[in-house]
Amino acid sequence: MRATSILNQYRVAIIGSGPAGFYTSYRLIDKLPGVKVDMFEALPVPYGLARFGVAPDHPEVKNCQDKFQEVAENESFRFIGNVKIGKDLDLKDLKENYNSVVFAYGSAEDRKLGIPGEDLNGVFSAREFVGWYNGLPQFSGMNPPLEDAEDVVVVGNGNVGLDVARILLCDVSRLKSTDITEEAYEVLKNSRVKNVKMVGRRGLLQSAFTTKEIRELVKEPGVEFTPLDPKYIDSYRAFIPMLSRSIKRVIQVLDKAKEENAKKEQLNKNFTLEYLQSPVEFYANEKNTQLLSSTKVELNNLIQDDIQAPASSVSTGEYLVYKSELAFKSIGYKSLPIEGMKELDIPFDTRRGVIQNQFGRVVGEDSRTLPGWYVAGWVKNGPTGVIAETMRESFEVAETIMQDYYNDYCDKELRAGYDGVISKIRSRPVSWQDWLKIEKVENQRGQSVGKPRSKILSTDEMLNIL
Ligand code: FAD
Ligand code: NAP
Repeated sequence: MRATSILNQYRVAIIGSGPAGFYTSYRLIDKLPGVKVDMFEALPVPYGLARFGVAPDHPEVKNCQDKFQEVAENESFRFIGNVKIGKDLDLKDLKENYNSVVFAYGSAEDRKLGIPGEDLNGVFSAREFVGWYNGLPQFSGMNPPLEDAEDVVVVGNGNVGLDVARILLCDVSRLKSTDITEEAYEVLKNSRVKNVKMVGRRGLLQSAFTTKEIRELVKEPGVEFTPLDPKYIDSYRAFIPMLSRSIKRVIQVLDKAKEENAKKEQLNKNFTLEYLQSPVEFYANEKNTQLLSSTKVELNNLIQDDIQAPASSVSTGEYLVYKSELAFKSIGYKSLPIEGMKELDIPFDTRRGVIQNQFGRVVGEDSRTLPGWYVAGWVKNGPTGVIAETMRESFEVAETIMQDYYNDYCDKELRAGYDGVISKIRSRPVSWQDWLKIEKVENQRGQSVGKPRSKILSTDEMLNIL
């Protein structure tokens, strides 16, 4: 018989309430009769980067939260917020009380450039900046000194870098009715940032951004999009028919930048794409310690066997210095191991920043899979992939869990689940009902000022509401 009896519940603990955690839960609850899913989240509020990453002017992307809410309302699901696994509850307690544990805790750290000046005040990571304007409690009050900065360098040319550039350059009144924090709105209102230069270490064809996102910036009212320097594109022109559809579309969008500029009423800000340059040093500003004076980059050559082969860059020993009061590193997020993994012999690949796995099954030191341990989302794949990809992959992980269940490649003993860990939690757990109370306050405060919600910026205040 394949289906589990409702009395023989199969208990799954999921660590993290971002898209990976919710989509894995959704598929399990939908397809595995008798499953009980408990989701542990470090913050008192759910949704991970769907709340704290996705840009405030992209509200349609946050619609995935409607599906997550539907999952949360299922009687087979429990949300346990404000419980950071490894700090407020030990990983070994999950092992003892659940049949399976899924790591879906994302990537909450920054990659580093490892160059001089990286720790200066005027250098921010995109993660800090994005977390700040999206209300991540950790970055509340960060308030970057935008009122004193005119020239900005963004390192890395992925979609996160484009989010950073767009938020810095757009007409701030456009953000007023979004869920951007009031704190960030005020700082952006007084910003003097005029020029943003986005620096990629490889060539145009290796741009990490996607067509829709670059088109949005090319069309941004009031922002002059500097036509691409011919040196970045001329050598590729003859090969365009051989390129992928996506990069052809990017080139078309960039080719139209001049026309788009001509359609705009005024051009008081500027965005420029630079390629084949790696930052090598950030210089402090002697007059204002909160700012930089400049960013030094080294010019690179591209190494590529043919137009469709992978490309890498090598440095040339030639340099340029850009005046820049601020720099934003947008070179990717990074995952770290959770406290307690080592003791349970769960290896973490620190070089790639992922938990090693096969189809979502965690792989041990001896290269064999560890029954009952799974991984989904960015901590499985590394910090890339849009929500749709995270969803598809998380469904696959749920399929793996079900396969193991039906093949008896897991423990099926009756486990205590939440009842077994509740007394061991060293914080004040936040239930889904609690979150709805917090959300109600956020919505009420937002509606009174014409926003969908006004995010609460401190975990203490969230807990006080309860
Ligand atoms: P996350 O969303 O990061 O969720 C992980 C969760 O785990 C977090 O809630 C975290 O608090 C929690 N957690 C961490 N450690 C612990 C612990 N020890 N115990 C308990 N909980 C823990 N995709 C799109 O499709 N469209 C977009 O517009 C878009 N914009 C983006 C903008 C930014 C700035 C970024 C960074 C990404 C964006 N993405 C976008 C990609 C999308 O956000 C990811 O695909 C997705 O969020 C990855 O999901 P995840 O669940 O793996 O990680
Ligand atoms: P990303 O797409 O991987 O881009 C990272 C960028 O950093 C690349 O240009 C990379 O260059 C560069 N980089 C990495 N290490 C570097 C170094 N040491 N020095 C210089 N440059 C370096 O990552 P992301 O922008 O953080 O985005 C993460 C994911 O979220 C992506 O899948 C993205 O599409 C998604 N996202 C989507 C949206 C949207 O749909 N609107 C918005 C935001 C994010 P190389 O290519 O040379 O390594």
